[in-house]
Order: sequence, then C-alpha cells, then structure tokens
Amino acid sequence: MHELSIAIQIVEIVEEEAAKVEAESITRLELDIGLLSGVERDALEFAMEEAIRGSLLEKTQIVYNFIKAVMVCEECCNEFNTDDYFNSCPYCNSLKTIFIKGKELNIKSIEILKQ
Ligand SMILES: [Zn+2]
Repeated sequence: MHELSIAIQIVEIVEEEAAKVEAESITRLELDIGLLSGVERDALEFAMEEAIRGSLLEKTQIVYNFIKAVMVCEECCNEFNTDDYFNSCPYCNSLKTIFIKGKELNIKSIEILKQ
C-alpha cells in the first residue's frame, strides 16, 4: 500500500527531527495534504495509525489539513478551484494551467516536549 510507505516515512522524519533536539515526546503533528497529491485520505489516516504504533508518535495528536486544489491560468492569470488533474481555464479556455495548491504532502509543524 502506497499510503503505508508514506506514513512510515513521515514517522521516520518526525522521529529524526525529535532526536536532533532530544525531545522527550511529540505532542502534536500537523500535516498538509493536497487533495490531488495522490494520497487517499482515509487510507493515509489508517496507515498513520499503523505507522505510529510503537514509535515516538504513538500518543501524538495528528492534525490533517486536507487542501483543496487551486490552479492558475498562465494566459489570463485567473485562479480557480479544481478537483481534477487536467483542466482548461474556465475563464479563457486556455490549457496552460498549473497547480498552485493541492499536490502538497508536507509536514507543516511538529510540537515536541522537552525536559
Ligand atoms: Zn485563463
């Protein structure tokens, strides 16, 4: 499962960061997930539950920000929401459109506890 390897990677990155600052525990983790990042929402939440088991993140509060996709048209510079991968501009019908939001998969913030 694609999401499980992503979840394991997230846990590894967070544990690494926590180790760098000698954190005792991680209280909160915030993730930004674009709705067109190719990650299935439910599958990721399920995979995270699996991935955190036995890790430093076992008791961490995990916040998921699912981000709607936004594209911008390079011809007329209008921005528009989308839930599709390929789009023409709804204003001028140009096919020169690019994503500005919606494909991200980022760790937004990590809150740790130190003694
Ligand atoms: Zn346009």
